[in-house]
Amino acid sequence: AQSQLLQSEKLASVGQLAAGVAHEINTPIAYVQTNLKTLRDYLDGVFALLGLYQRAQESADPAAFSERIAQKRQEADIDYVTGDAFTLLDDSEYGLRKVTTIVRGLKDFSRIDVPQTEEADVHMLLDNAINMARHEIGHKARVQKVYGEIPPLRCLPFQLSQVFLNLLVNAAHAIVERGEIRVTTRHEGDFALVAISDTGVGIAPENLPRLFEPFFTTKPIGIGTGLGLSVSWGIVKAHGGTIDVDSVPGKGSTFIVRLPLGGPTSDGAS
Ligand code: ADP
Repeated sequence: AQSQLLQSEKLASVGQLAAGVAHEINTPIAYVQTNLKTLRDYLDGVFALLGLYQRAQESADPAAFSERIAQKRQEADIDYVTGDAFTLLDDSEYGLRKVTTIVRGLKDFSRIDVPQTEEADVHMLLDNAINMARHEIGHKARVQKVYGEIPPLRCLPFQLSQVFLNLLVNAAHAIVERGEIRVTTRHEGDFALVAISDTGVGIAPENLPRLFEPFFTTKPIGIGTGLGLSVSWGIVKAHGGTIDVDSVPGKGSTFIVRLPLGGPTSDGAS
Protein backbone atom coordinates (compact mmCIF):
# COMPACT_ATOMS: atom_id res chain seq x y z
CA ALA A 1 0.00 0.00 0.00
CA GLN A 2 2.89 2.29 0.81
CA SER A 3 4.46 1.81 -2.60
CA GLN A 4 1.11 2.51 -4.23
CA LEU A 5 0.89 5.80 -2.39
CA LEU A 6 4.41 6.61 -3.45
CA GLN A 7 3.39 5.77 -7.01
CA SER A 8 0.38 8.13 -7.02
CA GLU A 9 2.39 10.94 -5.49
CA LYS A 10 4.90 10.45 -8.22
CA LEU A 11 2.19 10.55 -10.87
CA ALA A 12 0.83 13.78 -9.42
CA SER A 13 4.22 15.40 -9.62
CA VAL A 14 4.89 14.22 -13.17
CA GLY A 15 3.20 17.30 -14.64
CA GLN A 16 5.34 19.67 -12.59
CA LEU A 17 8.39 17.62 -13.36
CA ALA A 18 7.71 17.77 -17.10
CA ALA A 19 7.40 21.56 -17.03
CA GLY A 20 10.63 21.90 -15.06
CA VAL A 21 12.49 19.50 -17.31
CA ALA A 22 11.25 21.20 -20.47
CA HIS A 23 12.68 24.47 -19.19
CA GLU A 24 15.99 22.94 -18.05
CA ILE A 25 16.46 21.25 -21.40
CA ASN A 26 15.26 24.13 -23.58
CA THR A 27 17.89 26.57 -22.39
CA PRO A 28 20.97 24.54 -23.36
CA ILE A 29 19.30 23.34 -26.57
CA ALA A 30 18.57 26.95 -27.57
CA TYR A 31 22.19 28.06 -27.22
CA VAL A 32 23.58 24.94 -28.81
CA GLN A 33 21.36 25.71 -31.80
CA THR A 34 22.54 29.32 -31.91
CA ASN A 35 26.18 28.23 -31.62
CA LEU A 36 25.78 25.70 -34.42
CA LYS A 37 24.27 28.37 -36.65
CA THR A 38 27.14 30.79 -35.87
CA LEU A 39 29.72 28.09 -36.57
CA ARG A 40 28.03 27.11 -39.82
CA ASP A 41 27.98 30.73 -41.04
CA TYR A 42 31.60 31.02 -39.95
CA LEU A 43 32.61 27.93 -41.93
CA ASP A 44 30.68 29.18 -44.98
CA GLY A 45 32.66 32.42 -44.66
CA VAL A 46 35.98 30.61 -44.26
CA PHE A 47 35.37 28.52 -47.37
CA ALA A 48 34.34 31.59 -49.36
CA LEU A 49 37.54 33.32 -48.25
CA LEU A 50 39.67 30.31 -49.15
CA GLY A 51 38.13 30.39 -52.62
CA LEU A 52 38.98 34.07 -52.97
CA TYR A 53 42.57 33.52 -51.81
CA GLN A 54 42.98 30.71 -54.29
CA ARG A 55 41.65 32.79 -57.15
CA ALA A 56 43.91 35.65 -56.10
CA GLN A 57 46.91 33.33 -56.12
CA GLU A 58 46.12 32.04 -59.57
CA SER A 59 45.38 35.43 -61.01
CA ALA A 60 47.86 37.68 -62.74
CA ASP A 61 46.85 40.54 -60.47
CA PRO A 62 46.39 39.20 -56.90
CA ALA A 63 46.18 42.70 -55.46
CA ALA A 64 42.90 43.19 -57.29
CA PHE A 65 41.32 40.70 -54.85
CA SER A 66 42.45 42.36 -51.66
CA GLU A 67 39.41 44.58 -51.37
CA ARG A 68 36.97 41.72 -51.89
CA ILE A 69 38.85 39.61 -49.35
CA ALA A 70 38.71 42.36 -46.74
CA GLN A 71 35.02 42.82 -47.43
CA LYS A 72 34.32 39.10 -47.04
CA ARG A 73 36.26 38.97 -43.75
CA GLN A 74 34.11 41.69 -42.35
CA GLU A 75 30.85 40.37 -43.77
CA ALA A 76 31.31 36.93 -42.28
CA ASP A 77 32.63 38.24 -38.96
CA ILE A 78 35.64 36.01 -39.51
CA ASP A 79 38.05 37.75 -37.16
CA TYR A 80 35.55 37.89 -34.36
CA VAL A 81 34.44 34.24 -34.60
CA THR A 82 37.92 32.82 -35.03
CA GLY A 83 38.80 33.90 -31.51
CA ASP A 84 35.50 32.59 -30.27
CA ALA A 85 34.97 29.34 -32.16
CA PHE A 86 36.41 27.07 -29.49
CA THR A 87 34.45 28.80 -26.74
CA LEU A 88 31.30 28.20 -28.77
CA LEU A 89 32.21 24.52 -29.10
CA ASP A 90 33.05 24.20 -25.40
CA ASP A 91 29.77 25.84 -24.39
CA SER A 92 27.86 23.55 -26.71
CA GLU A 93 29.53 20.46 -25.28
CA TYR A 94 28.73 21.66 -21.80
CA GLY A 95 25.09 22.23 -22.78
CA LEU A 96 24.74 18.77 -24.28
CA ARG A 97 26.33 17.18 -21.19
CA LYS A 98 23.77 19.02 -19.10
CA VAL A 99 20.92 17.61 -21.22
CA THR A 100 22.39 14.10 -20.92
CA THR A 101 22.57 14.45 -17.15
CA ILE A 102 18.94 15.55 -16.96
CA VAL A 103 17.81 12.64 -19.13
CA ARG A 104 19.79 10.19 -17.00
CA GLY A 105 18.11 11.60 -13.90
CA LEU A 106 14.70 11.09 -15.50
CA LYS A 107 15.52 7.47 -16.26
CA ASP A 108 16.44 6.87 -12.62
CA PHE A 109 13.18 8.49 -11.62
CA SER A 110 11.08 6.29 -13.91
CA ARG A 111 12.90 3.12 -12.86
CA ILE A 112 11.21 3.23 -9.45
CA ASP A 113 7.87 3.29 -11.24
CA VAL A 114 8.31 -0.18 -12.76
CA PRO A 115 5.95 -2.37 -10.73
CA GLN A 116 7.16 -5.60 -9.21
CA THR A 117 7.61 -8.32 -11.79
CA GLU A 118 7.68 -12.07 -11.21
CA GLU A 119 9.00 -15.08 -13.03
CA ALA A 120 6.09 -16.92 -14.59
CA ASP A 121 5.43 -19.89 -16.80
CA VAL A 122 3.89 -18.58 -20.04
CA HIS A 123 2.00 -21.84 -20.56
CA MET A 124 0.37 -21.60 -17.18
CA LEU A 125 -0.78 -18.06 -17.97
CA LEU A 126 -2.13 -19.23 -21.34
CA ASP A 127 -3.94 -22.21 -19.80
CA ASN A 128 -5.54 -19.88 -17.25
CA ALA A 129 -6.62 -17.50 -20.00
CA ILE A 130 -8.05 -20.37 -22.08
CA ASN A 131 -10.08 -21.45 -19.06
CA MET A 132 -11.35 -17.94 -18.49
CA ALA A 133 -12.36 -17.69 -22.16
CA ARG A 134 -14.28 -20.99 -22.04
CA HIS A 135 -17.62 -19.27 -21.94
CA GLU A 136 -16.87 -17.18 -25.05
CA ILE A 137 -15.31 -20.08 -26.93
CA GLY A 138 -18.13 -22.50 -26.08
CA HIS A 139 -18.57 -25.19 -28.70
CA LYS A 140 -17.66 -22.88 -31.56
CA ALA A 141 -13.97 -23.53 -31.57
CA ARG A 142 -11.57 -26.31 -30.87
CA VAL A 143 -8.54 -24.94 -29.04
CA GLN A 144 -5.32 -26.45 -30.22
CA LYS A 145 -2.19 -25.88 -28.18
CA VAL A 146 1.20 -26.11 -29.83
CA TYR A 147 3.51 -25.26 -26.96
CA GLY A 148 7.27 -25.06 -27.35
CA GLU A 149 9.87 -25.00 -24.59
CA ILE A 150 9.93 -21.58 -22.98
CA PRO A 151 12.11 -20.56 -20.03
CA PRO A 152 10.45 -18.65 -17.17
CA LEU A 153 9.35 -15.20 -18.25
CA ARG A 154 9.81 -12.11 -16.08
CA CYS A 155 6.51 -10.26 -16.24
CA LEU A 156 3.41 -8.95 -14.54
CA PRO A 157 1.54 -12.27 -14.71
CA PHE A 158 -1.93 -10.95 -14.04
CA GLN A 159 -1.64 -8.31 -16.75
CA LEU A 160 -0.27 -10.77 -19.29
CA SER A 161 -3.11 -13.22 -18.62
CA GLN A 162 -5.41 -10.31 -19.39
CA VAL A 163 -3.72 -9.81 -22.75
CA PHE A 164 -4.03 -13.50 -23.65
CA LEU A 165 -7.65 -13.51 -22.52
CA ASN A 166 -8.46 -10.48 -24.72
CA LEU A 167 -6.86 -12.11 -27.75
CA LEU A 168 -8.68 -15.42 -27.13
CA VAL A 169 -12.04 -13.71 -26.71
CA ASN A 170 -11.47 -11.74 -29.93
CA ALA A 171 -10.56 -14.99 -31.70
CA ALA A 172 -13.75 -16.61 -30.43
CA HIS A 173 -15.85 -13.62 -31.52
CA ALA A 174 -14.32 -13.79 -35.00
CA ILE A 175 -15.44 -17.37 -35.54
CA VAL A 176 -18.97 -17.39 -36.91
CA GLU A 177 -20.07 -21.02 -36.77
CA ARG A 178 -17.30 -23.47 -36.17
CA GLY A 179 -13.57 -23.14 -36.29
CA GLU A 180 -10.27 -23.53 -34.62
CA ILE A 181 -8.20 -21.41 -32.29
CA ARG A 182 -4.55 -22.31 -32.27
CA VAL A 183 -2.22 -21.19 -29.51
CA THR A 184 1.43 -21.55 -30.48
CA THR A 185 4.46 -20.67 -28.37
CA ARG A 186 8.07 -20.48 -29.36
CA HIS A 187 11.36 -19.55 -27.72
CA GLU A 188 13.39 -17.25 -29.97
CA GLY A 189 16.64 -15.85 -28.61
CA ASP A 190 15.83 -13.62 -25.66
CA PHE A 191 12.14 -13.61 -26.53
CA ALA A 192 9.05 -15.67 -25.97
CA LEU A 193 6.60 -15.70 -28.88
CA VAL A 194 2.93 -16.40 -28.36
CA ALA A 195 0.74 -16.65 -31.46
CA ILE A 196 -3.04 -16.86 -31.22
CA SER A 197 -4.64 -17.77 -34.55
CA ASP A 198 -8.25 -18.20 -35.47
CA THR A 199 -10.12 -19.43 -38.52
CA GLY A 200 -12.53 -16.51 -38.18
CA VAL A 201 -13.78 -13.74 -40.42
CA GLY A 202 -10.43 -11.97 -40.64
CA ILE A 203 -9.78 -8.23 -40.60
CA ALA A 204 -10.50 -5.82 -43.44
CA PRO A 205 -7.21 -4.19 -44.55
CA GLU A 206 -8.60 -0.70 -43.94
CA ASN A 207 -9.23 -1.61 -40.28
CA LEU A 208 -5.71 -2.91 -39.63
CA PRO A 209 -4.14 0.48 -38.84
CA ARG A 210 -6.92 1.28 -36.36
CA LEU A 211 -7.08 -2.01 -34.41
CA PHE A 212 -5.09 -0.79 -31.42
CA GLU A 213 -6.87 2.55 -31.14
CA PRO A 214 -8.88 2.92 -27.95
CA PHE A 215 -12.63 2.50 -28.64
CA PHE A 216 -12.14 1.17 -32.15
CA THR A 217 -14.64 -1.66 -32.55
CA THR A 218 -16.64 -3.29 -35.32
CA LYS A 219 -18.79 -5.17 -32.82
CA PRO A 220 -22.31 -4.29 -31.73
CA ILE A 221 -22.75 -2.17 -28.62
CA GLY A 222 -22.78 -4.43 -25.58
CA ILE A 223 -20.30 -6.87 -27.11
CA GLY A 224 -17.43 -4.65 -28.12
CA THR A 225 -15.88 -1.77 -26.24
CA GLY A 226 -12.89 -1.35 -28.50
CA LEU A 227 -10.61 -1.34 -25.49
CA GLY A 228 -9.29 -4.91 -25.50
CA LEU A 229 -6.52 -4.44 -28.02
CA SER A 230 -5.48 -0.95 -26.95
CA VAL A 231 -5.14 -2.08 -23.33
CA SER A 232 -3.31 -5.25 -24.44
CA TRP A 233 -0.96 -3.21 -26.56
CA GLY A 234 -0.20 -0.94 -23.59
CA ILE A 235 0.56 -3.92 -21.35
CA VAL A 236 2.77 -5.63 -23.91
CA LYS A 237 4.60 -2.39 -24.66
CA ALA A 238 5.22 -1.87 -20.93
CA HIS A 239 6.83 -5.32 -20.96
CA GLY A 240 9.15 -4.19 -23.75
CA GLY A 241 7.32 -6.41 -26.22
CA THR A 242 5.32 -6.06 -29.42
CA ILE A 243 2.07 -7.33 -30.93
CA ASP A 244 1.90 -8.09 -34.64
CA VAL A 245 -1.16 -8.96 -36.66
CA ASP A 246 -1.48 -11.07 -39.73
CA SER A 247 -4.92 -11.49 -41.23
CA VAL A 248 -6.58 -12.77 -44.37
CA PRO A 249 -10.20 -11.64 -44.71
CA GLY A 250 -12.46 -14.64 -44.86
CA LYS A 251 -9.74 -17.00 -43.65
CA GLY A 252 -8.67 -15.84 -40.21
CA SER A 253 -6.20 -13.85 -38.17
CA THR A 254 -3.05 -14.37 -36.15
CA PHE A 255 -1.94 -12.10 -33.32
CA ILE A 256 1.71 -12.57 -32.39
CA VAL A 257 2.90 -11.35 -29.01
CA ARG A 258 6.66 -11.05 -28.62
CA LEU A 259 7.94 -10.65 -25.07
CA PRO A 260 11.50 -10.24 -23.78
CA LEU A 261 12.18 -13.10 -21.34
CA GLY A 262 14.04 -10.66 -19.08
CA GLY A 263 10.89 -8.61 -18.56
CA PRO A 264 10.18 -4.89 -18.70
CA THR A 265 13.11 -2.51 -18.69
CA SER A 266 12.87 0.89 -17.10
CA ASP A 267 13.23 2.80 -20.33
CA GLY A 268 10.69 0.65 -22.15
CA ALA A 269 13.24 -0.40 -24.73
CA SER A 270 12.13 -3.29 -26.85
P1 ADP B 1 -13.49 -5.14 -29.10
O1 ADP B 1 -13.19 -6.61 -29.13
O2 ADP B 1 -14.19 -4.73 -27.86
O3 ADP B 1 -14.15 -4.65 -30.34
P2 ADP B 1 -10.67 -4.84 -29.38
O4 ADP B 1 -9.79 -3.65 -29.14
O5 ADP B 1 -10.31 -6.08 -28.68
O6 ADP B 1 -12.12 -4.36 -29.02
O7 ADP B 1 -10.73 -5.13 -30.92
C1 ADP B 1 -10.96 -4.08 -31.84
C2 ADP B 1 -11.46 -4.62 -33.16
O8 ADP B 1 -10.42 -5.38 -33.79
C3 ADP B 1 -12.62 -5.58 -33.08
O9 ADP B 1 -13.86 -4.90 -32.96
C4 ADP B 1 -12.50 -6.34 -34.38
O10 ADP B 1 -13.02 -5.60 -35.45
C5 ADP B 1 -11.00 -6.41 -34.59
N1 ADP B 1 -10.43 -7.70 -34.15
C6 ADP B 1 -9.70 -7.94 -33.07
N2 ADP B 1 -9.32 -9.24 -33.01
C7 ADP B 1 -9.84 -9.83 -34.10
C8 ADP B 1 -9.79 -11.16 -34.65
N3 ADP B 1 -9.14 -12.14 -34.02
N4 ADP B 1 -10.42 -11.39 -35.82
C9 ADP B 1 -11.08 -10.40 -36.46
N5 ADP B 1 -11.15 -9.12 -36.02
C10 ADP B 1 -10.53 -8.83 -34.85
